[in-house]
Amino acid sequence: MSSLFRLLPSVDVALTAVADVPALHHVPRALLRDGINLFLDRLRRDIRQSRIMNASQLEHTVLWERLVPFLVAYVQPHFRRVINATGVVVHTNLGRSILAEVATRAVTEACARYSNLEMNLDTGGRGSRYSHVEDALCRLTGAEAALVVNNNAAAVLLVLETLAKGREVIVSRGQLVEIGGSFRIPEVMEKSGATLREVGATNRTHLRDYEQAINENTAALLKVHASNYRIIGFTKEVSLPELAELGSKYDLPVIEDLGSGNFSDFSGLGLLDEPTVQKTVADGADVVTFSGDKVLGGPQAGIIVGKKEYIDRIKKNPLNRAVRIDKMTLAALEATLRLYLDPEKARREIPTVAMILADPVQLASRGAILADDVAKICGESAVVDTVSAESRVGGGAFPEQGLPTTLVRVRPAHEGISAQMLKERLLETDPPVIGRIEHDVFCLDVRTVADDEFELTANVLNKAIAGCMN
Ligand SMILES: *Cc1c(COP(=O)(O)O)cnc(C)c1O
Repeated sequence: MSSLFRLLPSVDVALTAVADVPALHHVPRALLRDGINLFLDRLRRDIRQSRIMNASQLEHTVLWERLVPFLVAYVQPHFRRVINATGVVVHTNLGRSILAEVATRAVTEACARYSNLEMNLDTGGRGSRYSHVEDALCRLTGAEAALVVNNNAAAVLLVLETLAKGREVIVSRGQLVEIGGSFRIPEVMEKSGATLREVGATNRTHLRDYEQAINENTAALLKVHASNYRIIGFTKEVSLPELAELGSKYDLPVIEDLGSGNFSDFSGLGLLDEPTVQKTVADGADVVTFSGDKVLGGPQAGIIVGKKEYIDRIKKNPLNRAVRIDKMTLAALEATLRLYLDPEKARREIPTVAMILADPVQLASRGAILADDVAKICGESAVVDTVSAESRVGGGAFPEQGLPTTLVRVRPAHEGISAQMLKERLLETDPPVIGRIEHDVFCLDVRTVADDEFELTANVLNKAIAGCMN
């Protein structure tokens, strides 16, 4: 074994060996050195674990053949594009929403040039960054005032801290939810300094439960959208209009955390239980919070709309400065909101909305094209066909409802390549392709793959299948 260790090249010898590789030309030397050291560490490990047992495996020409692709992968930026073939439209791990083209252009301009971020161009004096989106938000939702912050978690925290710190907030036990990634209503409540006053039972809460809990220390009534789960069977929650009436009777603000928060009415698709922001405002919520990058299809942001008296207090909270929205996000958000001013345009141009509303017949014909591309490029190495299935919206919206879609199924011809092996291999390709396995077969859901990604996806798949055989 020790003689094998002595066969390993030095870092300098390896550096010289890769000096002429075009893909590594502009890579800083220090980064290459780190990559080579890591590569050599892996070889030492393989020797120790007896995965490398003879000298021929350490011949330099053999090593360089492995080192080059290793380094090319090592020096790549960490944060990069992937192809989403999961069919989950709002996939939190894959960046939630992708932006409309006008929104991406707005971001580019906002960060490449100076802007009127906080200058009022009518007076030349100080302006407010929120002014750029407040009018559009009020017009779209019917609210009196609006404010945007970093994300919805920050929005909920800020609203509670402003309106209820040191006092009680009444919430139904059925709504004490945890959203993926450690956002839990009871914990956010505690951080805000407000005290949670739970009422009702897990499955049923009545108006009288809220009313009996109201006392001189009550600051607000909070309603939380259950998002990623449903309680079904013998259930009851108090409707927003009823809660709003109770709030008025005792002069208490009613806050609703909508989570996803859509402007589009998706009920035509049979997608139930997701009230639009407009309806929530009309039904009497005093303050409504929701995400910018879930079903809305914009950038990561927390949007707060509601009565002016409350929004003004929230704007003045010093905590607001710590969770404030940046200029690139504002640019993307304004561009996205402007699309919503024309609902037809929003349906066409906002990718998240267009993908949710995608026509199943069209998905079937797009699926056939993708299957064709994959079959052509993979040739003998895979058996490809299509099948009807369902995709998910994701982001906690419509959790139990599926959207009819078409899957492209890819079965590698070589029996030794399992669906799981292929799925894992595709995480290492450039770009990675994230698919899903159904009934032990690797599948691509065409809903979230763009037309201009078809060929690339087919090529990457072909390479991955070939890679599984080495
Ligand atoms: C998603 C969600 C949140 C958190 O929103 P972020 O924008 O991810 O911070 C909060 N509340 C509900 C009900 C949600 O669905």
